[in-house]
Amino acid sequence: MKTEYIELDENRIDPDVIRRAGAVLREGGLVAFPTETVYGLGGDALNPESSRKIYAAKGRPQDNPLIVHICRMEDLAPITEEIPEEGYALAEAFWPGPLTMIFNKSILVPKETTGGLSTVAVRFPSNRIAAELIRAAGGYIAAPSANASGRPSPTLGRHCLEDLDGKVEMILDGGPVGIGLESTIIDLTSEVPTILRPGYVTQEMLEQVLGSVEIDRTILGEDSSLPPKAPGMKYRHYAPRGELVIVEGDAERVIEYINGACREYAGRGCRTGVICTDETASRYRADLVRSAGSRSDEESVARCLFRILREFDEEGAQFMFSESFDRAGLGQAVMNRLMKAAGHRVVKV
Ligand code: AMP
Ligand code: MG
Repeated sequence: MKTEYIELDENRIDPDVIRRAGAVLREGGLVAFPTETVYGLGGDALNPESSRKIYAAKGRPQDNPLIVHICRMEDLAPITEEIPEEGYALAEAFWPGPLTMIFNKSILVPKETTGGLSTVAVRFPSNRIAAELIRAAGGYIAAPSANASGRPSPTLGRHCLEDLDGKVEMILDGGPVGIGLESTIIDLTSEVPTILRPGYVTQEMLEQVLGSVEIDRTILGEDSSLPPKAPGMKYRHYAPRGELVIVEGDAERVIEYINGACREYAGRGCRTGVICTDETASRYRADLVRSAGSRSDEESVARCLFRILREFDEEGAQFMFSESFDRAGLGQAVMNRLMKAAGHRVVKV
């Protein structure tokens, strides 16, 4: 199939493009589009055939459910069994925005979309291109991240093209995304609301609205023998093609360790990469040194992480090292993705 690649300006959206993309989705086709978190690979959430196509295009395991995207609060009730009080409170506080909530699903949502589960994940994105596309598609777009399964999530339109060219009808390039990490997922079907995936909306922010919120222990990596409650979190994810190791400890020792390791790999003819911060970037000696921004600006680190991992792939990095980041606030999401990208390989120095 020929993939049509179209650039769109979020502040001056061409209505004709949205109309055409909406028609593609209504007819069961696939469209990759920007959201404020990462790019999504969209299909009609209420059409089982569309969901099957999404799994095929990504090479995604069938038991890894999709997130249903809406653009109006009144569209939530038809796809859910009931909406608990917490759902309204969180929607009031964080929608439209980077929060996904899990509810019991209604019969309107096919099992193909929910990976066989009786629950449905729902998000109301704030990106205007996403909102207009959802409306044009009939109200419900199922969309996982628009990467090939296992690769880092796309934060630029061309990342979607790299992974999905020839596999989807259309890619809408709306420029670089604002957040750079996937949405926070909170399960509202459990006794106590539980975070299944950390994201831009932090545990502290959720607790301010709900009081007490739990976090799935597997996210913190405390007991890796337990399966995570968000099925997708159990898969190898965000991983670059080479081998990534996180180096944790005193800043000077981290620099010394990484430079030593890079020297050794370079001696064996291997290409090396380092993920660091503005404060330390000039200190590293490696083939590819990439700063994710200032250490004090965790939003910048979140925004840059997946793009850097993809750059390392493009540049053929074989051995990569990353500085570690504080796990408080947004750092919990950053470290969750970084740990997965590194296959949990951490060296403490
Ligand atoms: P992605 O859109 O690629 O970020 O993937 C969606 C994520 O949401 C995956 O990690 C899924 O496992 C998770 N998810 C979607 N629906 C559900 C659900 N009903 N219950 C638990 N996790 C879900
Ligand atoms: Mg994903």
